[in-house]
Amino acid sequence: MLIVVRYVFQVETEKVTFSTSSKDQVKDLTSEVKQKVEQIEIKNGMCLIFAPHATGMIILNENERGIRKDYMKGIYNIVPENNNYEHDRIDNNAHAHIKSAFVGTDKTVPVSDGNLDLGTWQNIFFLETDGPRSQRRLILKVMGESVE
Ligand code: ZN
Repeated sequence: MLIVVRYVFQVETEKVTFSTSSKDQVKDLTSEVKQKVEQIEIKNGMCLIFAPHATGMIILNENERGIRKDYMKGIYNIVPENNNYEHDRIDNNAHAHIKSAFVGTDKTVPVSDGNLDLGTWQNIFFLETDGPRSQRRLILKVMGESVE
């Protein structure tokens, strides 16, 4: 007996909208992103997580109270505020742009069996250093195989 399983290449786009409530915030968006990916029929592929913002960052790491503060401490040590930046003459948020440029605004996570294949200690965080902002968002591009 021959069993034929047909896979179809599929691309789906989803959005996660959120706000940030203070100037600096480490926002855990893991459950929101996971939920969107689980609703999509793609079983095997990848998920691009992209923040279309010039002063935000995306990291994948542990959600522990101490290390969440340490992410901010570390990044402020590398890129301090009020460092006589040119951009501060017009906008006063140069440090947030530089942090975003260094850390990046996207991550790609494998999708296996229809779920995000994150490590045990990996959560999806949006790092805010230019808040509070009422309209932040993630664009998700999920690409891969679904069973026809
Ligand atoms: Zn600016």
